Amino acid sequence: MECVTIKQGSNCQFMVKTGCCFNGGQCHPIVEKCEGCAHIQDLPSGRYCDTYAHPAIKWMYGACNFATHIQPEQKQEAKKLNPLKASKRGIR
Ligand code: SF4
Repeated sequence: MECVTIKQGSNCQFMVKTGCCFNGGQCHPIVEKCEGCAHIQDLPSGRYCDTYAHPAIKWMYGACNFATHIQPEQKQEAKKLNPLKASKRGIR
């Protein structure tokens, strides 16, 4: 449905007949780490991400995977190893 809160006029999956069903009832503004990203929207109500409703969450566990202003290697998180498989590989 069409947003009637922050991003008025844009189609949004969180907008339902009773209003915005996103956590807090509206989108959250960008965070400092978003500065420079091409997904930032300057709206009369503030600066918001056109891709994600809560940018702070995207940066909580590492770099945002939608960010356009950082290098790809910065986006990759360290590969998590399965300790069981790692120990089996060590035996061979
Ligand atoms: S795509 Fe990621 S880095 Fe860019 S504005 Fe949105 S949350 Fe911030």
